[in-house]
Amino acid sequence: MVPMIARTPEIPVLPRARLQSDSLVKPLVDPSGRVMRKLRVSLTDACQYRCFYCMPENPVFTRNAELLSPSEYGAICSELVSRGIEELRVTGGEPTVRPEFREIMTVLSRIPAQRLSLTSNGQLLARHLDFLRDLGCTHLNISLDSLDAGRFERITRGGDFHTVMACIEQAATSGFTVKVNAIVFRGINDDELPDFARWSAASGVEVRFLEYMKIGPEHATTFDRFVSADEMIASLEPHVGMNAVAVPHDSTSFVFETSAGARLGFIASESKPFCGACSRLRLSATGTLRSCLMSERGVSLRNVSSSGYGDVLDRVMAMKPTGRLDHVDQAMHEIGG
Ligand code: SAM
Ligand code: SF4
Repeated sequence: MVPMIARTPEIPVLPRARLQSDSLVKPLVDPSGRVMRKLRVSLTDACQYRCFYCMPENPVFTRNAELLSPSEYGAICSELVSRGIEELRVTGGEPTVRPEFREIMTVLSRIPAQRLSLTSNGQLLARHLDFLRDLGCTHLNISLDSLDAGRFERITRGGDFHTVMACIEQAATSGFTVKVNAIVFRGINDDELPDFARWSAASGVEVRFLEYMKIGPEHATTFDRFVSADEMIASLEPHVGMNAVAVPHDSTSFVFETSAGARLGFIASESKPFCGACSRLRLSATGTLRSCLMSERGVSLRNVSSSGYGDVLDRVMAMKPTGRLDHVDQAMHEIGG
């Protein structure tokens, strides 16, 4: 049975208080001319799930004392926003397991970025929704790799399907813009695409199907499960009529609406890399800024004085690869997904 969610209008984005052109500091542009607009901010590498593609069964997480403090997040993210970052997307690991989650979100909400958003597994998120909405956090990506409770629990090795689905419903009816992320694996959940399309049409929530990327130690044994976006679309077409819709030039996904009213995105990082339009930087939970998901190179922003940022950021921008790197051995939960 498909859970029903009423459609609600988007809540407005935060007012943009400081335009890049007002600022005297150098904007974040790499040697190829790509302008950085989005920052993934990892709060922790820890998570209460053990998704088989992301985590070993017995991971060792960084001690809390070694992670950036709320005030360090505030200082670093303010500097980056003053240089043109427009969106702060909080992630992890699982950001809601960080003991200072609310404190850090509060600090980030005071920085005049255009958008504050969050990626979460949804397990502990419902209790924070009112708080987040009041802060001005508007956009939530919630991961849900299966609509079948037993399957979901086997994939996540610790997740509770009904809790996450209830959280998605609550978030969507509370005015957040919600997107559901589902990685598609051959022989595991690739038969569920039409179910997800029906669910999206009934709920009004966009579902984004992700290609599995060669990230972390797990990819060596799991990549034979890879399903390309073209294969996903081919498997959906007999079931739903799909019309392409326009997306921003640096969007990671291409999006279709179906005749039944579903909104389906595809993130084809492996088969159709979008490096040429990449506008993303990543801040790890220990303060390293990196310019590419697929490259372990980065520079620590810890203890950098305001006058030192220019040189450090030039180094990070010079590290941004121009084309797609094949794989990265560091796990997604450590990088900040
Ligand atoms: N714990 C949160 C969650 O699961 O949404 C936030 C962090 S998680 C690393 C962010 C996203 O990365 C999730 O949607 C997850 O499915 C995705 N992810 C993890 N490993 C991946 C991989 N190898 N390829 C593609 N996406 C991956
Ligand atoms: Fe945790 Fe997210 Fe990784 Fe799953 S994908 S183990 S929820 S960090």
